[in-house]
Amino acid sequence: MADDQAAVEVVSAADIAVRVAELGEAITVDYRDRRPTLVAVLVGSLPFLADVVRSISIPVEVDFLGLSRFGEGGRIRIALDTAESVEGRDVIIVEDIIDTGLTLTVLRRMLEERGAASVTTATLVDKVPRRLVDVPIEYRGFEVGDEYLVGYGLDWKGRYRNLPSLWAVLDMESLVDDPDALIDALYGVDGSRLEAHH
Ligand code: 5GP
Repeated sequence: MADDQAAVEVVSAADIAVRVAELGEAITVDYRDRRPTLVAVLVGSLPFLADVVRSISIPVEVDFLGLSRFGEGGRIRIALDTAESVEGRDVIIVEDIIDTGLTLTVLRRMLEERGAASVTTATLVDKVPRRLVDVPIEYRGFEVGDEYLVGYGLDWKGRYRNLPSLWAVLDMESLVDDPDALIDALYGVDGSRLEAHH
C-alpha cells in the first residue's frame, strides 16, 4: 500500500484502538470520584480525543484549546480559548504528541495559574529521546523515537491527519520540498485505500 522508501507504518489502527481503550480505563479508575474536564489541544488531538473519551465510563466534560507557536523556545499563544473556565476543575490535557515538552510545560503552568484543581496529561505519542524539559505525563499511548510522524491526527502542513494509523516519514527532504509527496503512497493513487473499505 505505501511506498516503503517514503514512509513506514509504525502503529496500526488496531494497536491504537487497544492502547487508547487502556488509557480510557486507567482514567476511569483514577477519576472515579471526580468529573474531569478533558481539554483537547486542537487540531491534532481530535481522533485521540474522540476515541479515548468513549473509553472513559464516568461522566466527563470536554473543552478545546487552540495554540499557535511563535519564535524560539516553545513560545505559544492561545489562538482559541476554552469555552468554560477551568477554575476548580480537574483538567486532563489531551495532546497528540509530546516532543520537546516545551508546549506542555507552558500549558500546564497556564492551567494551574488559572486555578485548575489538578492538571494531568494524556498523550497518544511520547517522543522520549527529543525531550528538552522534564514534564510529567500521566497517560501515554506509545513511546517512539525521533522520526517525524503523520496520521491519526498528526499532520504535515495540514495533510495526512485522517490516516487511521501512525506513519513515520522516512524521506523528510522530499516532504519539505513537496508537502503532498506522500499522498499517492498513503492514500492510494486513485483513493484505493478508501475503496478498500466499501
Ligand atoms: P513540543 O513543545 O513538545 O516540542 O511540541 C509538541 C508539538 O510539536 C506537537 O503538538 C506537534 O504539533 C508537533 N510535533 C512534534 N513532533 C511531531 C511529529 O512527529 N509529527 C507531527 N505531525 N507533529 C509533531
